[in-house]
Amino acid sequence: MSLSELPKLELHLHLEGAAPPAFIRGLAKEKSVDLSGIFREDGSYAYRDFVHFLSVYEAATSVLKSPEDYARLVTAVLEESAAHGVVYCETFVSPDFCGGSDVGAWREYLHAMQDAADRAEAQHGIILRGIVTCIRHFGPEKAKASARCAAETAGDWITGFGIAGDEGQGKPRDFAYSFDMAREAGLRLTAHAGEWGGPQSVKDALDDLKVERIGHGVRAIEDLALVDRLAEDGITLEVCPGSNVTLGVYPKWDQHPIQKLRERGVKVTVSTDDPPFFHTTMTREYEELERAFGWGAADFHEISQTALAAAFCDEDTKAKIAKRLEDHPHE
Ligand SMILES: [Zn+2]
Repeated sequence: MSLSELPKLELHLHLEGAAPPAFIRGLAKEKSVDLSGIFREDGSYAYRDFVHFLSVYEAATSVLKSPEDYARLVTAVLEESAAHGVVYCETFVSPDFCGGSDVGAWREYLHAMQDAADRAEAQHGIILRGIVTCIRHFGPEKAKASARCAAETAGDWITGFGIAGDEGQGKPRDFAYSFDMAREAGLRLTAHAGEWGGPQSVKDALDDLKVERIGHGVRAIEDLALVDRLAEDGITLEVCPGSNVTLGVYPKWDQHPIQKLRERGVKVTVSTDDPPFFHTTMTREYEELERAFGWGAADFHEISQTALAAAFCDEDTKAKIAKRLEDHPHE
């Protein structure tokens, strides 16, 4: 079985965080911005620790400034994802970075990204949908502006709303207004929690934001009553094991709780988060899961079905993706 060829669904991918280093280097050169300090000799992103990672991430993404840049970013990211067998992907996009949360400017960025996604779908068969994401450490007022952009553009392509950023700042309830606005616009909801924060952060996201998916959520494992609640309520976790191991949430792959959560009945899916920054790909995630937990074709097929059920796209799109999964042998 070739793990790179297995059809995959990815629900947790930050668009800027998925920017291939060669793409960013090229863009920086065009704009005469010197970014030589953020790359290793082999061309990959270089950083020492989490704080340094944040500054490298910021420097890399600082060259993305126009709708045209974001269209090219979408093209580069989807080409890479498709090469790893991804057939459906949901990506986090932030009006904060795309036009400063002005609805008119946001529409221009969105139009450019959607066009690029349509071209990639025609070329590689990969389907992309967007989840508007507010940034926790920018505070509740900026989140409202993002939610307004999301509500104004909710539809076939923008299908969800979420929150990312520093889990250490503010509380989920500070963002309840934005989540209510998004829900009323018909958007599906997810929130980053239980990565840096413990089980309480997951409970707060569920209780205060009423989300149906949790980004990461893995630290729920520290509270088995919460694990059972996730299983009973059918909450899907967007698990990003390679990201967790690279950032030190867990020291090693075989100590990652994804298997325990799954055994206890929690719906788990697999994603890469910010893949080139964590030196990972969907293929690498699958290889490590195979190595650490002995997962095989049937396990990966189950993970894909879980992701398909939890995807924020419409039923026609789901039927298309289901066909891609069924076309591939998985017994
Ligand atoms: Zn994330």
